[in-house]
Amino acid sequence: MISVSEALHLIKENTGPVKDIIEISAIESAGYVLSQDVISPVDLPAFDQSAMDGFAISPHSSERYHLRGEVRAGSSTQFQLDPGDAVRIFTGARVPESASAVVIQEEVVTDGDEICVKSDVSKGMNIRTQGEQLRTGSVALSKGMRVNPAAVGLLVSMGIEKVNVYRKPLTSVIVTGDELIAPGSVPEPGQIYESNSVVLVSALHENGFGVISVQHVKDEVSSITDAISAESKISDLILVSGGVSVGDHDHTVECLANNGYVKIFHGVDQKPGKPLYFGIKDDKIAFGLPGNPASALTCFYVYILPALRSVSGSGFNGKWIRAGLNSTFKKKGAREEFLRAEYSNGIVTLLPLQNSAMLHNYAKANALVRLPAGKASYESGDPVDVLLL
Ligand code: AMP
Ligand code: MG
Repeated sequence: MISVSEALHLIKENTGPVKDIIEISAIESAGYVLSQDVISPVDLPAFDQSAMDGFAISPHSSERYHLRGEVRAGSSTQFQLDPGDAVRIFTGARVPESASAVVIQEEVVTDGDEICVKSDVSKGMNIRTQGEQLRTGSVALSKGMRVNPAAVGLLVSMGIEKVNVYRKPLTSVIVTGDELIAPGSVPEPGQIYESNSVVLVSALHENGFGVISVQHVKDEVSSITDAISAESKISDLILVSGGVSVGDHDHTVECLANNGYVKIFHGVDQKPGKPLYFGIKDDKIAFGLPGNPASALTCFYVYILPALRSVSGSGFNGKWIRAGLNSTFKKKGAREEFLRAEYSNGIVTLLPLQNSAMLHNYAKANALVRLPAGKASYESGDPVDVLLL
């Protein structure tokens, strides 16, 4: 069985951005990943702008200035100021070329067509200089960046209307299990509600990824094989929940092989999620997830989310940080462990009831703590690796 680090490495090595690049409207690009650098076609700001409401001045030795007029935001009026001249100016308005400072209005006393400046004046004060944010031709946004609201605003600010992005990855979820029934129906003895599909779909959505199809199939080789066959025609990534272990009714791995998926690994020395499977077929990938709900979700956060980010073009990555444990802890088994936890202000608190079938405490968790295989005993304050959820 391979280690967690080996599993992460193998997924990273075997995933990469989708091949299809699309040109989309900049204003609809939030959530997409840029497939090339965006070069600024303009200086930002495009002209020297006043950063405050006040007076633009051409300094001289006296504190008294002659008021020549007004420049509002959006105005194209040009003033030629001589030393000792001032214009009333507002935030965002174009500063006259011949002005070298803006004095805030709180520091000025107006007296008819004269003003008296009470503060010290330094060159360039309260002026946003042309190009101080971005110069024409410089890289404004880098390839591999997921466009966020600020980036959309920046694109629009540069006057860019179209951007090249990677097509979003398409994901299918297949849940297996004879015992599972859909929400809304009444369970017979021995049946339980199927929850992994909704957990996975919610987790995908929460992280900005869509789901193209969800199927629930019986624990039968033919049904699972057919479902994988159908989904692999439409999806980049297939998540198969359940049936990935070694029981008599566990067929997931066999059915992925029937569909031409090549096993990269099956089994990771970890708790929870030991039976995790990862396979590839050309540029498509598949994960076989343990059916236990907490195991499936932990595998999602640790492995599948970074894999999806890689397929989406933003790189194989997770939000790992270091934090101090807030209590002593004794790890029982030899396996590497992921424990549900609450993280706040550099301190991480392990939650009780870590059983892989239980979602109750997972609902409170905002982090997973990764405890390596080698170390069993932890003191309060010991630094640990934490994945923020
Ligand atoms: P399996 O991995 O198929 O052996 O399932 C392990 C455990 O997880 C069993 O107790 C299953 O009943 C449960 N389980 C499997 N799939 C799901 C699911 N989609 N929703 C809720 N529980 C599940
Ligand atoms: Mg099962």
